[in-house]
Amino acid sequence: MKNWLPTSTAGSLPKPTWLAEPETLWSPWKLEGQELLDGKQDALRLSLHEQQLAGIDIVSDGEQTRQHFVTTFIEHLSGVDFEQRKTVKIRDRYDASVPSVVGPVAREKPVFVDDARFLRKQTEKPIKWALPGPMTMVDTLYDNHYKSREKLAWEFAKALNQEARELAAAGVDIIQFDEPAFNVFFDEVNDWGIAALEKAIEGLECETAVHICYGYGIKANTDWKKTLGSQWRQYEEIFPKLQASNIDIVSLECQNSHVPMELIELIRGKKVMVGAIDVATHTVETPEEVAETLRKALQFVDADKLYPCTNCGMTPLPRAVARGKLSALSAGAALVRNELAL
Ligand SMILES: [Zn+2]
Repeated sequence: MKNWLPTSTAGSLPKPTWLAEPETLWSPWKLEGQELLDGKQDALRLSLHEQQLAGIDIVSDGEQTRQHFVTTFIEHLSGVDFEQRKTVKIRDRYDASVPSVVGPVAREKPVFVDDARFLRKQTEKPIKWALPGPMTMVDTLYDNHYKSREKLAWEFAKALNQEARELAAAGVDIIQFDEPAFNVFFDEVNDWGIAALEKAIEGLECETAVHICYGYGIKANTDWKKTLGSQWRQYEEIFPKLQASNIDIVSLECQNSHVPMELIELIRGKKVMVGAIDVATHTVETPEEVAETLRKALQFVDADKLYPCTNCGMTPLPRAVARGKLSALSAGAALVRNELAL
């Protein structure tokens, strides 16, 4: 029964204070050159160690080698000019200064493949690797070339697919695409967003996941959540088409969210990473609170398809809080696993 309810995290974990500013999203690096390369690898080792100590079953790099979950990937593409910056509204929510697409985009070289190989050498456990999704990438840039979100997404999907194939060959077990934009642009998701996602996962031999959340616990997101009313039904708009897609796993925000759990019925058949840890609060969940969320989800997800997870990344949290939350996730999953074994 131990391999039931395998735990994992949505992605990012706090970085050590010698590498980046603590409790800060998208902090600049504190090291340079070879020291930075070595520092990132050391941070990855620490992050893995903390996940394993907490009993996390499917481990990750904790996103220790990237500054931003989208921009770090884009930095490795040609066709994007980081000097030509424009201010755009991200996910219809907050302004950000972003680089411009000025020509055909292409992946000139691997982005995370060496990091994934490094992680693979450090652990026997299954590993999950996060990449940005095509639609969320489009939404994090100013497009001065394709003039079409759909066309640009398609080009990004091709670049992501190249990267994903090499990550799988490096021994990654699950590749996850982060698509918070799926929670905002429902018409586009159904018109071309899921098609672009399927292009990104085409021909992959590892498992694939899509992470759709309500964002990090930053003010722009928590303010937005206040406008969503008592029932968050965003997932309802996109689940039918997602259910029919080739994606294996769907990662969702369920802890302290106002998402009606029964919406998960709409993706019956998929594996579901149920967010049972709230990343927008420093309060560490009790194992019982985690278990309660998992029990609710079990009404709509078969037990062999339930993957306890966090709502989103934990980068902005103090390290002790993140460690506490990882342990709570493990302990909560163990409670439910024991109940299932009865
Ligand atoms: Zn997220």
